[in-house]
Amino acid sequence: MKKRFFSILLSLCMVLMLLPVTAFAEDDPTITISGADVVCAPQDYEFTVTVSEGVTLDSKFGFDTGSSGSDSDLTVDDDGVVRGVMPAEWYNVENGSFQLTVHGKTKDNHDISASKTVTLKPGHSFVDGVCQWCGAKQQYTVEYDGGAEFGLQVAFKTHGVDLPLAEKTFHREGYVQTGWMGSDGIFYELGGVYTTDADVTMYAAWEKIVTLTVPFTTTVELGGNTAPGETTFDLAIVGAYAGEDSYADVTVSGSVTTDGAGDYTGTLTLTGPDDQLWNMLCEGAFVQQVNAGEEGWTYDDTVWGLLLDGGVALSTDDAAPEYTVVILPATCEETDNGVYYDLDWEADPLDEMSFTNIYTKSTTKPTESTKPTTNNTNTGVTTSVQTGDNSNLMLWLVLFAVSAIGAIGTGVYNKRRRNSRTK
Ligand SMILES: [Zn+2]
Repeated sequence: MKKRFFSILLSLCMVLMLLPVTAFAEDDPTITISGADVVCAPQDYEFTVTVSEGVTLDSKFGFDTGSSGSDSDLTVDDDGVVRGVMPAEWYNVENGSFQLTVHGKTKDNHDISASKTVTLKPGHSFVDGVCQWCGAKQQYTVEYDGGAEFGLQVAFKTHGVDLPLAEKTFHREGYVQTGWMGSDGIFYELGGVYTTDADVTMYAAWEKIVTLTVPFTTTVELGGNTAPGETTFDLAIVGAYAGEDSYADVTVSGSVTTDGAGDYTGTLTLTGPDDQLWNMLCEGAFVQQVNAGEEGWTYDDTVWGLLLDGGVALSTDDAAPEYTVVILPATCEETDNGVYYDLDWEADPLDEMSFTNIYTKSTTKPTESTKPTTNNTNTGVTTSVQTGDNSNLMLWLVLFAVSAIGAIGTGVYNKRRRNSRTK
């Protein structure tokens, strides 16, 4: 009897153990559509689909907007997740909702489907820049305004995300765009960053391009017996009290082409935004000739100081203001830390800068060219040649002395130049 009792108990245990397994195995096949219950009219609706084991999905999902319906493809991504997208343009906003349906077949070929109704909001409702319905981040409009002659350009800033601002966008004759003046009262650099979560208009900030001119004379002197051919001498700004960054957009040009001994006039031009010219010249900038290192030349290494007339502050008004550049002699002191330039405040301002360059080259046999002419024009060849030779000898001695002085001069100048280059 005991044995029988045990066998019944055992059977009962086995049945009990099997029960949940059987129950699970016989669970109904399912399809589940996962996604938000609410979507806003401007946003596409995205969802995923999962199925229980053995269920095969149709490749399309159906939708019903309340006034029309159709179907669209489901996609399977790299991770095997089935996804669907209901684009915003298919919504019927007036209906306030739409329904999605996904179909499939069970292992034993029965039709199976699942549906989801999604509430449709006519627009976002932002709380602290984030939509309380769909989670979308608020977008802000950034308008770029270059003035009446240009159209507006628009960018969008996402809530909480910094927006890099546009670089130089508008090009206006005679002006350079130097930044953006925000309608929030803040000045922004070109290519700067806008961090505020609010609409804004960025007005182009302009600066007038001004050209200042400074006259100069370059004199060519002969140190030898030969005249130089065409030679161009350039001027350059070698320093200023202000840092180079503060006048980075100023361009400087000043050159003169000479051809033989004489005085040649030229103009140094300084072109740039007026405030940068002011930075460059308000305390003094220094001009020197570029030593091009052409053979036979001794370059004048005089430094001139330029100063914007202290009484005239540059204005950004459209009316052309008066600009005056004062020319002063400058001193140039070589130290271990480089070259120091200074204006000679004691000196009277000059009308122009001046540079004197010496051409020291001499031809080795200057008599070669004179001899044949003497021979041709004179009948008394012997005497004529005799006197000619005597005078030529004198000329030779003089020329030798001159070139020796010239050579010494060159040496001194070169040494000075080398030092000033260690700046
Ligand atoms: Zn929304």
